[in-house]
Amino acid sequence: MFRTLLTAAAVSALLAGSAHAQDVKTAEGLRDKALLDRTAWDITEDLTTNIGPRLVGSPAMERAKDWGAAKFKALGFTNIKVEEFAKPSWTRGEESAELVGPYPMKLGIVGLGRTVPTPAGGIEADVALFKTYADLIVAPESAVKGKIVVITQPMVKAQDGAGYGVAGISRRAGPTEAAKKGALALLIRSISTSDSTVPHTGVTAFGDGVVTIPAAAIGVPEAEQLERLAAKNTLRIKLKLASTVDAKDVAWNISGEIKGSEKPDEVIVIGGHLDSWDVGTGALDDATGVAITTAAAKLIGDLPKHPKRTIRVVMFGSEESGGSSEAYLEAHKNEVSKIVLAGESDTGADRIYSLKLPAGGGAHPLMKTAAGVLAPLKIYVNQAPAAHGGADIAGLEQAGVPSIELEQDATRYFDYHHTADDTLNKVRPDELAQNVAAWASFLYLVADSDIDFRALKAAAPAASH
Ligand SMILES: [Zn+2]
Repeated sequence: MFRTLLTAAAVSALLAGSAHAQDVKTAEGLRDKALLDRTAWDITEDLTTNIGPRLVGSPAMERAKDWGAAKFKALGFTNIKVEEFAKPSWTRGEESAELVGPYPMKLGIVGLGRTVPTPAGGIEADVALFKTYADLIVAPESAVKGKIVVITQPMVKAQDGAGYGVAGISRRAGPTEAAKKGALALLIRSISTSDSTVPHTGVTAFGDGVVTIPAAAIGVPEAEQLERLAAKNTLRIKLKLASTVDAKDVAWNISGEIKGSEKPDEVIVIGGHLDSWDVGTGALDDATGVAITTAAAKLIGDLPKHPKRTIRVVMFGSEESGGSSEAYLEAHKNEVSKIVLAGESDTGADRIYSLKLPAGGGAHPLMKTAAGVLAPLKIYVNQAPAAHGGADIAGLEQAGVPSIELEQDATRYFDYHHTADDTLNKVRPDELAQNVAAWASFLYLVADSDIDFRALKAAAPAASH
């Protein structure tokens, strides 16, 4: 009875979609080899140690560009490309802040990325403190004008990092919103899940036509101290921020390929971003993402026979303040229809716990096979479709390229993110290797198949409301 329900078309689709037994064996072999492979660790150690912090537009970023191309060559990648694009740079200068009243206390700060500077002598003013971003938005101009605004909204710790988008708006939009009400400067509680005094930077709104004010972040304990003090006192703060910009600077997207053996024009684009903030050494953000995707592709490249499709790894050159996503799409708009899948690793190096597929992908037999290969790594296939595979592939996604998310456990990530504490000693080698195992085995299955995620998406039922 059941068998009669399977049409001939369904049977042939099932057969065509299933991985060959040999493919499954190869994927499992890659997975198990990756768990013992040191390549990702070596790449992370090399980049963080020998290049160091990699702010876009800095001399270090130029060295990182050469490092990336040389690394691809050394690991056997082909068709290595260095694609230049315009990217104005921003360089941090001296920064300091102190509480002046009700008593003097030095505040550990870091200027938000691309903040405007204060006048050379700094800004000293009374404080308007808001416990949430929403409180600032509804505050009357009279409560803000001529003051230094302080926002102390905390960030929620969550495995999927969902607290970041919610709390991060203080950093991204806070300076322009406070500026609209006449504030002189902004200090935010770091977008952080730690209890450390180390402050977190990260990009804020900038660019032509953006009305903004100098902005910096303070550590979590200091934000809490100010919040308690403000309940009974008028606070007064002095803030000094210096920085310079160079409108004529450039950045690069660097790529290398494991060429497909049968359908080399069909490309899977994966990667991480090579640039970092200037504090710390950008180990978790995102040396490990570069390392994971490069090491996974390298393992596949070492196979006696490459999979059918090409795997391209991109070291994106300007994620932190934007630019590489748009530049990559612009340079590759003519091959978008041939890019069968995209993915990015950019949430540190802790273990992957979930795979999100393009809409409609979960029902495909090959993806059921993939689920079985990933299960021993303690990764489940999420019912929710991939929505945002990464900032650097957002342009490709908007152009219709299907994407995946291999979701990393972000519970610890935002303790260190964008801080001087984002260093190699936060990387756990066994979890790093688990990431490589997941990417290598999953990529191989897709690369050696004909799966068409675009067609699956088109056929998928619309999401219910
Ligand atoms: Zn990142």
